[in-house]
Amino acid sequence: MDADTIRQYLEFYQDLHIETLYRRTSVADAASPAVKASVVAAPPAPVIAASESKIAAAESKIAAAEPKMELPPLAPPDDSLIKIMQDIGDCHRCRLSEARDKIVFGVGDEKAPLVFVGEGPGADEDAQGIPFVGRAGQLLTQMIEGTSKKEGIPLLRKDVYICNVVKCRPPGNRTPEADEMETCGQFLYRQLSAIRPKAICALGGTAARAVTGHKEGVTKMRGKWFKWNDIPVMVTYHPSYLLRPYNENAKREAWEDLKKVLHFVYD
Ligand code: SF4
Repeated sequence: MDADTIRQYLEFYQDLHIETLYRRTSVADAASPAVKASVVAAPPAPVIAASESKIAAAESKIAAAEPKMELPPLAPPDDSLIKIMQDIGDCHRCRLSEARDKIVFGVGDEKAPLVFVGEGPGADEDAQGIPFVGRAGQLLTQMIEGTSKKEGIPLLRKDVYICNVVKCRPPGNRTPEADEMETCGQFLYRQLSAIRPKAICALGGTAARAVTGHKEGVTKMRGKWFKWNDIPVMVTYHPSYLLRPYNENAKREAWEDLKKVLHFVYD
């Protein structure tokens, strides 16, 4: 395998927030009890060559297996982001508190007409306490500001609000469990109620399912409008997904989705 291919693999795993890679063991090694005990988990084979239709089918299966989340009623009318932050406090309501460094509450204009919702903090976000500051975050900023500029909409990242479904980093950046999403989701719903934006943009399948309650995979939901308590929700891909080298179509689609939501909110 040449150096460029290895670099692409490493970037791919980084985009998936996988920080620890294990060397694949031989069959003979795997049969040894000593080695077996030392191997925590073998990595899945790289899926760089997988077609988008296969990815879509896998996502649909995962979505179908997950329980549909119940959407709670709106928070009290006098709720505010400060109150929500105070209520979160040094939260230990779910197991995601165990390995986190910082709670990542959200960032941006508390009166923003547009809110972006992602899945959960990654390593950079956990260290800084700010959502979407790593590579995926930089891409999101480029998407917001670049698309707005092209479309003649004067908009910067600071003018929108950005947060996640869960406020603490899942260990190894795994997908949050349903119970973690339900526990932390109450704060997301209160944030959305307090901001009351004109539209919400759900980034990726986890955010889409949390905000809409629908079970489909993101490839089926993207580009379509849903509702969260009467607020229109546009679903699109998570920027991490767009960073993978074989996702040119998805990039184009995400830009189309973003144009739709920007024109809906700012025209
Ligand atoms: S993820 Fe949410 S509910 Fe869980 S500990 Fe962090 S702030 Fe609390």
